[in-house]
Amino acid sequence: MSRVRSLFCKVAAAVLLTGCADTGAPFNDSITESNLSDDLYYLASPEMRGRLVGSPEIATASEWIADRFGTLGLEPAGDDGSYYQNFELAWFSLDAPNLLRVTGSGRARQPGDGWTPINFSASTSAAGLVAFAGFGIVEPRLGYDDYRDEDVRGKFVLVLEREPGVTDPSSPFDGVVTAEASRTWRKALSAQERGAIGILFVRDVHNRPETGDWQQAHASSWPEEPRRVERFLLGAWVEDITIPAAQISVELAEVLVSGSGSTLEELSMASEEAGEGLGVIALPGAEASLTVNVERHTVMGRNVLAMVEGSDPDLRDEVVIIGAHHDHDGTDGETVFPGADDDGSGTVGVMGVAGAYARAIEAGERPRRSVIFAIWDAEERGLLGAWYYTLRPLFPLQSTVAKLNLDMIGRHQEVPEDGAGRFRGLEVQSAESNSNATNILGYSRTPDLAGQIEAANTFGLELKMRYDNNESNLLRRSDHWPFLQNGVPAVWFHTGLHPDYHRAGDTPDRIEYEKMTRIVRLVHQTSWNLAQGDTRPSLQEMGSRPRS
Ligand SMILES: [Zn+2]
Repeated sequence: MSRVRSLFCKVAAAVLLTGCADTGAPFNDSITESNLSDDLYYLASPEMRGRLVGSPEIATASEWIADRFGTLGLEPAGDDGSYYQNFELAWFSLDAPNLLRVTGSGRARQPGDGWTPINFSASTSAAGLVAFAGFGIVEPRLGYDDYRDEDVRGKFVLVLEREPGVTDPSSPFDGVVTAEASRTWRKALSAQERGAIGILFVRDVHNRPETGDWQQAHASSWPEEPRRVERFLLGAWVEDITIPAAQISVELAEVLVSGSGSTLEELSMASEEAGEGLGVIALPGAEASLTVNVERHTVMGRNVLAMVEGSDPDLRDEVVIIGAHHDHDGTDGETVFPGADDDGSGTVGVMGVAGAYARAIEAGERPRRSVIFAIWDAEERGLLGAWYYTLRPLFPLQSTVAKLNLDMIGRHQEVPEDGAGRFRGLEVQSAESNSNATNILGYSRTPDLAGQIEAANTFGLELKMRYDNNESNLLRRSDHWPFLQNGVPAVWFHTGLHPDYHRAGDTPDRIEYEKMTRIVRLVHQTSWNLAQGDTRPSLQEMGSRPRS
């Protein structure tokens, strides 16, 4: 289909000088079902054992991808002239001792007795007065600051979990999607920057009930037996945290706020209603002492990056990134989670696009801007490879024209009647109803880029612009999200969830290769247009965009 239109466009352009906005991307039809399926049957084979972060199998997968980039003649775009960008993932185990004492509530408490240490906490002790600081959020993009420029030097801060407007679709904090500003480690760093000696988190009690059983809450944060897969954060995020952090019960928080003349519920409501942040509220008589001992462990992650350099001296410093993640969920006993759709499909899709560019260069057709092929690691652990890239970008983010993310592009979305929690927020729908469709997420953040995808869609695909403000939190569930948070127009090509999502049934034989091939060709065409275009797509930054 693309070849026919591409030929038509060339003829039309030559004869009529009108009609076609886009030029067919060179070698678009070199992206074929058989190439994509050959690659995917290898990447999602049982021998790859679910490509868990830190495993020998994902090392094999990333080396296979780097070898392919090399064979194609693409330039390395990783660290020190290599195809790799290495980064540290941190995980945590509880050491001893750990003690919390809250003035007015008697004894020094062990974890589980109304509190638990937070995993990123520094291993240290602190003692001092306590102040209340609303949600503890600092979000300059919204002009929002719960500290209102007041420092909390030498004090603990007590803050609420989550964010204002959690169930409000029109909340400036990303509607019903969880905003980045509400992450606990970001709150801890903000408190530390304002001089706090420690941070205590408590439930946002005006929104949801208190944790019932603190022994159980503690045990689920710090299980006796190791988890099948540990919970990770980026080492680069937590290495700067030097203060102790704990989650405490509503009961203990009530003791702390009692001298203020308000209940925790009243302070929570006031925090909810403070449009630009609550400001620091003194809590007369409130003191705490906290000792936390957490051991930090490290696992290495590895992104794989290659590039084609642009031909235009004025534009070659600008880059278009096409990315997917190659890690998945490993194994559970004898059960392998093959991750063919998630995200073997996107990974082989990026390799297919890379192959088309490699042929174009051989034929002397180099794009004006540079194009980066990025295969992220540790997406399933919290988008950590992509987050690391945005923290230590190999090309300036200001010069990054767009990020096209491919994650799960191989199936027809299917939401069953009895789907329950894992399909939360998504309407029931059949695979047949999505048999020619792909979702495009991020469309509301960058209507320019969404429009470019629509214009490039000569492949007969039904593009469903949806889920940007959905309680499934899908918008923040793949690798375009860190780019959106860092000012880069980014979209996610995603054929949607299905009953095999994150299960043993996510196998390569269940992939819809014909549709997937058209999606990869659409990504290739869109990337080519972005690399050639005279203008760049814009991003509607948080706080400036219209509500949807
Ligand atoms: Zn994924």
